[in-house]
Amino acid sequence: MGALPVFRWHLAPDGYATRRQLRARGLRPGGQGVAAQLERPRRRRGPLIAYLYRIDLAKPVRPMTPARWAALAKANAARRRCPACRRDAGYVIPASLGMCVPCAYPHDCAA
Ligand SMILES: [Zn+2]
Repeated sequence: MGALPVFRWHLAPDGYATRRQLRARGLRPGGQGVAAQLERPRRRRGPLIAYLYRIDLAKPVRPMTPARWAALAKANAARRRCPACRRDAGYVIPASLGMCVPCAYPHDCAA
């Protein structure tokens, strides 16, 4: 990693961004390695280092496709389904009960 270009803080060239800056643009490093690093000198301590990635090699954050939305909805539906009565409780089954409220407290709900 000794060949990594090092830039002074605030003097990073165009085309480079930190992971956080990429995320703000809806990008992710996308498998590329660290392209450069920024160093901010500090008193009596080692410099603060930030890693930079090349924006031209960054990839868009994986978008939500219909299939991913469907998988997410299915996972959420499974968490709402009561294992006792098999019904969709309409809310996530509380782990403390392990079943929907009417199943956990049948006498309360019958009243
Ligand atoms: Zn139930």
